[in-house]
Amino acid sequence: MRDFTNIKMGNEKFKLKFELVPDSCWYSNLRSILSKKEWDYIRHDAYDRANGKCMICNRKVSRLEAHEVWQYDEKTCTQILVDVVAVCNSCHQVIHIGRTSLTGNMERAEDWYMKVNNCSYAKMKEELGKATADHQRRNKVSEWKLDLSFLERYIK
Ligand SMILES: [Zn+2]
Repeated sequence: MRDFTNIKMGNEKFKLKFELVPDSCWYSNLRSILSKKEWDYIRHDAYDRANGKCMICNRKVSRLEAHEVWQYDEKTCTQILVDVVAVCNSCHQVIHIGRTSLTGNMERAEDWYMKVNNCSYAKMKEELGKATADHQRRNKVSEWKLDLSFLERYIK
């Protein structure tokens, strides 16, 4: 059993979180590691579980997107895949706030974060500050090991 005690999960009160992947993570998305067939299998499994609703905001949407959830064990410098979820585009834009800020959709993403988490502007900014600090600290790790043991559940 993996020891999760030294892994920070962000603010557990909030269902929608800012998740900034460290720049030094070579494998920030599964589709670049897996074959198309394997990735399709995993993402469609997430879509099936979602049943047409975003797994974060619970909204019924016509199009879902697959999102890989990573955790970072900073003691062992390991990025760990912990889930693949199906989310709506609005939630996905919030999760990848770093990328979203580059496309000028920052304000909309911040509004969506506050709405889904039912929190104030100040609280949202505080969480964004924490996520950015985590990101900068994790960027100092020159090489992350990869833990994909999550994928074992798909092997029959
Ligand atoms: Zn959503």
